[in-house]
Amino acid sequence: FKVRVPNNEPIYGYKPGSVEKLELRQTLSQLKEEIIEIPLIIGGKEIKTGNIREVKIPHNHKHILARYHVAGDKELEMAIEASHQAKEAWIKLDWHDRAAVFLKAAELLKGPWRAAINAATMLGQSKTVFQAEIDSACELIDFLRYNTYYMNEIYTDQPNSIVTEWNRLEYRPLDGFVLAITPFNFTSIGANLPTAPAMLGNTVIWKPSNNAVYSNYIFMRVLKEAGLPDGVINFVPSNGADVDRVLIGHKDLAGIHFTGSSRVFEGIWKSVGENISKYRSFPRIVGETGGKDFIFAHNSSDIDALAVAIIRGSFEFQGQKCSAASRAYVPKSIWEELKGKLNEQLSEIKVGDVENFTNFVGAVIDKKAFDKVTSYIDYAKKSDEAEIFWGGTYDDSVGYFIDPTIILTTNPKFKTMEEEIFGPVITIYLYDDKDLESTLKLCDETSPYGLTGAIFAQDREALAMMQKVLYFSAGNFYINDKPTGAVVGQQPFGGGRKSGTNDKAGSKLNLLRWVNVRNIKENF
Ligand code: GLU
Repeated sequence: FKVRVPNNEPIYGYKPGSVEKLELRQTLSQLKEEIIEIPLIIGGKEIKTGNIREVKIPHNHKHILARYHVAGDKELEMAIEASHQAKEAWIKLDWHDRAAVFLKAAELLKGPWRAAINAATMLGQSKTVFQAEIDSACELIDFLRYNTYYMNEIYTDQPNSIVTEWNRLEYRPLDGFVLAITPFNFTSIGANLPTAPAMLGNTVIWKPSNNAVYSNYIFMRVLKEAGLPDGVINFVPSNGADVDRVLIGHKDLAGIHFTGSSRVFEGIWKSVGENISKYRSFPRIVGETGGKDFIFAHNSSDIDALAVAIIRGSFEFQGQKCSAASRAYVPKSIWEELKGKLNEQLSEIKVGDVENFTNFVGAVIDKKAFDKVTSYIDYAKKSDEAEIFWGGTYDDSVGYFIDPTIILTTNPKFKTMEEEIFGPVITIYLYDDKDLESTLKLCDETSPYGLTGAIFAQDREALAMMQKVLYFSAGNFYINDKPTGAVVGQQPFGGGRKSGTNDKAGSKLNLLRWVNVRNIKENF
């Protein structure tokens, strides 16, 4: 069996009067009218614990969108049991029968479920229509299709055999359960983290982010309709401390698929370390964490392209991307021209309610994020080493809105050049053209992360030199483009240093972490 080579799912336009826009509008109204109750899903059963939390709309935080049940120790233990029970039958299925479930889920998302998952992402995570379409429709569909395609490549990869013997590789799943801990910022990542290991025969316990429970629950319903057997993925909104104690502390933990902050990921490694002698196998730990992603411009840059990259790279998705540009290095000789172009384009950007399709930037996810991001802006306002070049204003009376903000600093190690902010804020440092090499070294040393970065130049020698100096500073490195927007199947995503284990989501490299290979040698 061979799986068809996928194409990336095309993005719908949502033009005025289009069918998709009409349908999305209707779905948005429906979701807002009805406050749904979101259960846990364990072994295929919906479970209500009575420990209830609210989902609010970030751009209209008085509006309650849904209520969800939170798992306690008992339910987490049930989830371990359910994943154990489901495993036997799941492994017995031929790989193409498992793949078919996920390919069907992709078809359901493409068609009947597209509006629902996009609307849930727009309302629950305050994403604009295009941000939602790119994330919860296209990227999610791409993950499902490409990963099934990579399954095929993995399973058909077999060693040589000499005449009198036959060597075979058997791609077993890990021996235990996989724990997926997922972030709020991408519905597609939320879905990819449990499904990638599941495809390879693992059974999974999924702890979604509290801030993405709505869209993630819709994805669980899609999987059910696609025929995913009960217990293969168990959905348990829960508290980190309980997950740590009950799941990470369990002998059958065989893998963790994580996206979130570097701090939480460090905590996970420590906890695994403390429990290490308990486990039946050494757990696979795969994580994609923080970033302090840069744009580094040379004085031969195409300034129009640079201005677009700064704006799109930092402010799209409200800057709530691990990959978002959040520091830039610009030579003094091109600043005047760049400044003019930034001013011109920034004045066109509209911030506000994402249900108004003309807004480009929505709200940040919650009060905690709002307070954190604005504290960096306030810090810059008070400092002698910085000034606000653009924005710097914010308002949380209705929604958690922060205007796109550009800070200019005279200190290349200024706090906002070093720390991850995770909001629509970028800091620019202007360097003397003659200090190119030393500034590149500074760029490399300034942050502990290594996720994404972009360089801009038209001079070929400069490009070659810049790539060399910045050798370890990004796992996704862009030349003359913004450092965001990796496409599944085209730019496998992930970084090193404190940005994670660099196991490249959206590629075969990631899937290989979820297999536990048996080599069989048969002698004739
Ligand atoms: N894959 C996304 C990009 O390339 C970022 C994902 C993330 O924020 O974790 O922009």
